[in-house]
Amino acid sequence: MEKEFPGGRTLKLVGGDITKLAAEAIVNAANAGLRGGGGVDGAIHRAGGPEIMRELDGIRAAEGGCPTGSAVATTAGKLPARYIFHAVGPIFRGGGQGEAEALASCYAVCMKMASERALRSISFPSISTGVYGYPVEQAARIALTTVARALEADTTVETATFVLFDEATFQAYRRALAGLHAQSLE
Ligand code: ADP
Repeated sequence: MEKEFPGGRTLKLVGGDITKLAAEAIVNAANAGLRGGGGVDGAIHRAGGPEIMRELDGIRAAEGGCPTGSAVATTAGKLPARYIFHAVGPIFRGGGQGEAEALASCYAVCMKMASERALRSISFPSISTGVYGYPVEQAARIALTTVARALEADTTVETATFVLFDEATFQAYRRALAGLHAQSLE
């Protein structure tokens, strides 16, 4: 499923494993300590090899980690990408702790980092909706709205792809994208 934007830009939804799909930047759902974990983070480090963690060790030593709502870049090791953007999503604590703003910021920062590096493609997982517990219907709306806004603005990104690992997450994003379509037709 996809949505077209002016200038031939495209937002796509696909099912599957983000480590298998080539993109100039692959976004990881990391943690503030940049220490690696389970879920998509584990899959990226396993498939990418130890070089990615070595770079994160250097960033952690220099900067102490990465704040929630932001991201840091490394190279991609053995993954089919030039960069990994390690974005730190919020842990969902009921929704009154700035979670929505932090989640939107992850996507906005990654789109900005892609454009700063003149990248044409970027792929995202569903940040925060795994162990961080963000309700997927809400998270999907925030993710798609934020990336759509960036694709409507000035960016070098031609294709932004959400790679959704499980069927329930894919269906939630599909519904949210249909909602976005309806809004833009109003
Ligand atoms: P968070 O800690 O930000 O919640 P998780 O990795 O626990 O991150 O989950 C985020 C989403 O990533 C979930 O929807 C999970 O199913 C999904 N996921 C897990 N492995 C992969 C993978 N290899 N590719 C894409 N998405 C994945």
